[in-house]
Amino acid sequence: MAHPKRKISKSRRDKRRTHYKAIAPTLSYCPNCGELKLSHRACPSCGYYAGKSMFVPES
Ligand SMILES: [Zn+2]
Repeated sequence: MAHPKRKISKSRRDKRRTHYKAIAPTLSYCPNCGELKLSHRACPSCGYYAGKSMFVPES
């Protein structure tokens, strides 16, 4: 199998990682209750997703 010839130095490894960035989560407002929620996730406050109830939140 293909194999690296040399160890990548800490410097090179860390330089590569300078491009890694933390990404802010995409937030949107729930069309059912208006709370801020994560996109493509059921709303944690009302349990709705795509106009349907996925779960009934506790309390
Ligand atoms: Zn909601």
